[in-house]
Amino acid sequence: MPLCTATKDDGTACERIVSASQRFCFAHDPARASERSRNASKAARSKPSRELKVVKERLRTLAEDVLEARVDQDAAGVAARILGVYLRAVEAERKVQEQEEILERIDALEQRSQGGRRRWG
Ligand SMILES: [Zn+2]
Repeated sequence: MPLCTATKDDGTACERIVSASQRFCFAHDPARASERSRNASKAARSKPSRELKVVKERLRTLAEDVLEARVDQDAAGVAARILGVYLRAVEAERKVQEQEEILERIDALEQRSQGGRRRWG
């Protein structure tokens, strides 16, 4: 079976299996670059995922600071607990957003299956 002919970021060959008509896998096909960035930016655009990234970076920095004794351990512990609560709030927000998206999709499907007419609601 043919393999993707691209070279990965680390300099090694990609080696993902591709169909006979293709030279590149989805991750490396130059013709699909815009599709890839659309998919990536859709997820990255959401507010909770941006916030998760920020909090994760903060926690990592905090952990490094504690290990290298750059911050007071008690203060770092309090900060970590607060960030933990914040993470749970972001996670809850993400779930609500997900549910709303699912409800919207169900609604759209129902409208389509009823030929655009709503029998209830
Ligand atoms: Zn590839």
